[in-house]
Amino acid sequence: MSFQTIHILGVPFVRATMDEMMSVIHAHVKQQKPCFIVTANPEIVMKANEEPTYMATIQQADYVVADGIGVVKAAELLGTPLPERVAGYDLLCRCLQLADEHEYRVYMIGAKEKVVQAAAKHVRDRYPNARLVGVRNGYFDWNDETIIEEVKRAEPDFVFVALGMGKQEQWISQHIQTVGRGVWMGVGGSFDVLAGVVKRAPELWIRLHLEWLYRLLKQPTRAKRMMALPRFAWTILKQKVVRK
Ligand code: UDP
Repeated sequence: MSFQTIHILGVPFVRATMDEMMSVIHAHVKQQKPCFIVTANPEIVMKANEEPTYMATIQQADYVVADGIGVVKAAELLGTPLPERVAGYDLLCRCLQLADEHEYRVYMIGAKEKVVQAAAKHVRDRYPNARLVGVRNGYFDWNDETIIEEVKRAEPDFVFVALGMGKQEQWISQHIQTVGRGVWMGVGGSFDVLAGVVKRAPELWIRLHLEWLYRLLKQPTRAKRMMALPRFAWTILKQKVVRK
């Protein structure tokens, strides 16, 4: 299945629903073809616009999906609508479910040691048939080649990388071809959510498109980072006026 892409401030998003993404992900796993997925929210789009090397990394991805209602709304406003939001955390859970159904091999890398271990425990409990072939924290020496050899030996079907936006995409793009298999996805703070350290917004907040506000209230230290949201909205509005 190949998807149409639409560009939002230069970032190529696939026009795909969650179910369609899961079909292509399953096809990649079955064919053992490596695949790099970026789940991009407005913060990522703004960062890519400010850092050309980050934009280049994102453009190497096989699929960029719309994580964040801001991206979906922007697409609509620019007259190139996307079918739905494909939230990173939800996509991660669907992949774990797929791994559970087919006994696929999962490698988890990122977050603090305690967090990744608690996240791994959650995966073992909740998805008992998924084969956890590697669990490693995200505080390692970037030049340590033994890590990537270990990932390769583990023959993963999925590699979930929680190093925070920017770092995780760079690490994936640097190593995916060496390992040569697996669906690789940067999952940001999702291990913290799996571990129960950070709570995801309640369903109602998500439905009201207020997940960003919940995050801000729970983690006020993110306020500076979240200034990317109004900057994103402003840039999109300007683009809409120019296009008219
Ligand atoms: N992290 C890591 N190694 C690093 C920097 C960050 O493993 O060198 C982890 C951090 O412990 C946290 C996650 O990356 O679990 C970042 O979470 P955040 O919610 O900030 O993700 P983002 O919104 O940046 O994608």
